Amino acid sequence: MFEKLIPIIEKANKIAIFTHTHPDGDAMGSSYALKLALTSIGKCCKVFLLDDPDASAFGLIIKGDDIELSLEDCDLAIALDCADSKRLGMYEEPFMSHPNSIAIDHHVTHVEFAKSGTVYSDISSTCELMFNLFKEMDISINKEIGNNIYVGLATDTGNFKYSCISGDTLRAAGELIDLGVDFASISKAAFDTKPKAYYDLMGIAIGKLRMVCDGKAAALYLESEDFKKAGIKESEANGIVNIPNSIEGVEVGAFIRKRDDDEYKVSLRSNKYIDVSEIAAERGGGGHVRASGYSVTGKTVDEIIQDLAEGLDKRWQD
Ligand code: 5GP
Ligand code: MN
Repeated sequence: MFEKLIPIIEKANKIAIFTHTHPDGDAMGSSYALKLALTSIGKCCKVFLLDDPDASAFGLIIKGDDIELSLEDCDLAIALDCADSKRLGMYEEPFMSHPNSIAIDHHVTHVEFAKSGTVYSDISSTCELMFNLFKEMDISINKEIGNNIYVGLATDTGNFKYSCISGDTLRAAGELIDLGVDFASISKAAFDTKPKAYYDLMGIAIGKLRMVCDGKAAALYLESEDFKKAGIKESEANGIVNIPNSIEGVEVGAFIRKRDDDEYKVSLRSNKYIDVSEIAAERGGGGHVRASGYSVTGKTVDEIIQDLAEGLDKRWQD
């Protein structure tokens, strides 16, 4: 699978690793797994993370990135878990102007943007791709690398329950568990530990749910005031996104929040048959069949919900 990329990686000495804005468990897990793996074969690597995420909320323990390495000094730039270059945020320009770049990703909406090669595969997570890459490169996966991979496997599959998992995903997880990866702690940290403020936000959220499309869709809009009132940052509110589509009869759930003055972020989740990556791609975003997102500027929340409902109304199955 990686036969084209491996020689490029093997030739490089100083490697810069990038992932998407607002990084999640898969983005951070794959980035640090790759850094650790390539360091173990003598490469010098640095992860360039955006938005100062709280890694522990995803069950990750990241040791301080103490390496002084500037992108100009790197002979290779790697983008992980990024469907398009826009998702690199402020690193988009430096990444795109780097002469030697590769991308490894698992989003169906992936648009090729790296210069020297891309591996796209529609599998559970970029961490599963890392597991396969390390096998193909004969890099031994130790417990620390395994922990990082496991976090992405678990978080991108809702703790191994979404339809994106395959037998290979579970076999990879099994191998990591045999290595001694602390899956119970990761699961507890990533899924079953929330600050009290999270439940305060949940209380507010439940009062604001809106049913649309005759109950086949539900939308939730939270304002910055709601986050302030509950005393929680948006980045700590993972899980709220799953409320709308966990209501009986709902196929598509939308979670909308304000990013900037005029910009809204919409996260979509579907249960069985609506391909929400298409809905998001039509609106300039992307993602997966069951989980996607897009940004909107210049519309009110009512208009965003109306536009989404119209998009969905063309697609319902009986
Ligand atoms: P989330 O709703 O958790 O932010 O994102 C769900 C999935 O959709 C993730 O795989 C994420 O990468 C993708 N996604 C979310 N927002 C965007 C966006 O604005 N553009 C693209 N291309 N993908 C997005
Ligand atoms: Mn991912």
